[in-house]
Amino acid sequence: MTKRQEKSVPMSSPEINEEDRQAVLEVLDTRYLSMGPKIEQFEQTIREFTGSQYAIAVNSGTAGLHLCIRAAGVEQGDIVITTPFSFISSTNVILFEKAIPVFVDIDPISGNMDPKQVEQAINDLKNGGAAAAKWIPRRGGEKPGAVKAVLSVDVFGQPADYDPIEKICEKNNLALIEDSCEALGATYKGRKAGTLGTYGVFAFYPNKQITTGEGGIIITDDEKAAAFMQALRNQGRAPGDAWLQHTYLGYNYRLDEMSAALGLSQLKRLDHMLQTRAQVAQWYETYLQEFDLIQTPHILPTTTQMSWFVYVIRVDASLDRDEFARRMIANGIPVRPYFLPIHLQPYLMEQFGYQPGDYPVSEDLGNRGLALPFSSVMSEEQVMAVCEGIRKSL
Ligand SMILES: *Cc1c(COP(=O)(O)O)cnc(C)c1O
Repeated sequence: MTKRQEKSVPMSSPEINEEDRQAVLEVLDTRYLSMGPKIEQFEQTIREFTGSQYAIAVNSGTAGLHLCIRAAGVEQGDIVITTPFSFISSTNVILFEKAIPVFVDIDPISGNMDPKQVEQAINDLKNGGAAAAKWIPRRGGEKPGAVKAVLSVDVFGQPADYDPIEKICEKNNLALIEDSCEALGATYKGRKAGTLGTYGVFAFYPNKQITTGEGGIIITDDEKAAAFMQALRNQGRAPGDAWLQHTYLGYNYRLDEMSAALGLSQLKRLDHMLQTRAQVAQWYETYLQEFDLIQTPHILPTTTQMSWFVYVIRVDASLDRDEFARRMIANGIPVRPYFLPIHLQPYLMEQFGYQPGDYPVSEDLGNRGLALPFSSVMSEEQVMAVCEGIRKSL
């Protein structure tokens, strides 16, 4: 289906072409449907693209983040500093290990973790006592362990402010996990997203910049960690283990060959997809100018290359975002509140006693953010149709 034939505007859409289809079909004629040459090629291509020493393909971005948490040695009761303004999995992987996520609030412009608060939290937690207590959740953090890692998220395709975050992590000997699942191809002061921490993770769900259906990949320069994560994704088989020998508690986090072949084919067009996404964002920026009650995304000067993942507007505080969203949907335009802050998800409130008001900047952005339809195959007419929907709904 070409862009022109599409009648309604979808929330997101992968861009699949004939070459992608052939790439997947060819795998089906080989004897390798898993653990074959496509995975290796996919990993090599990502290594070349990022300049990282190691790349480990896995079957989701969440699986990749989980392996980073394991590689960082995060265990029960340990603390990981992270952001509540993210997709749920960046916190879930901490909870998988029964560790304690300590949230810090975000920069109101980018929506990324505020480095000053990261530093404050780490120093306070080191000093203990009342200063430390104000960072620990009301419940479920009775005997907090050491701070083990910082997990930062490149929200909506824009890298966080890594210079200060890296410095803090280095000074305190902490692993830095970069959740770059939304930021493949972005750069921070010329450096590629995903390479800014000890570990970086990209994801390939169909709404991401490139897709493998389900899938993700970890990059790192740490040889030992890479070997450990390779073992964990493959049921804990260490190098040299026989098929039924398992050195570690592992998982089946392997990516299959069809998915890797699709990813390889998609990667060839990454530049093109990033450009077309940037073009769609530019159309939005232009056509949204006329609406005083709508704020468009802000790109920081440190973001030398934006990798547009979603297009999230902020509605004016005087506007009822949820009512506006209902009207948009009634007008045939799909929209989605983005993000619902993680600390206010029911099971986190239950387990840790979080309350509204705990992270006011995250909550403010969460209350005003609305993702508009966005993909690399959107036409200018579709962008105009969305903006017409906005006019009607306001
Ligand atoms: C997409 C995404 C992930 C990973 O999602 P999967 O569906 O597991 O691939 C992780 N973190 C963020 C911020 C994401 O946007």
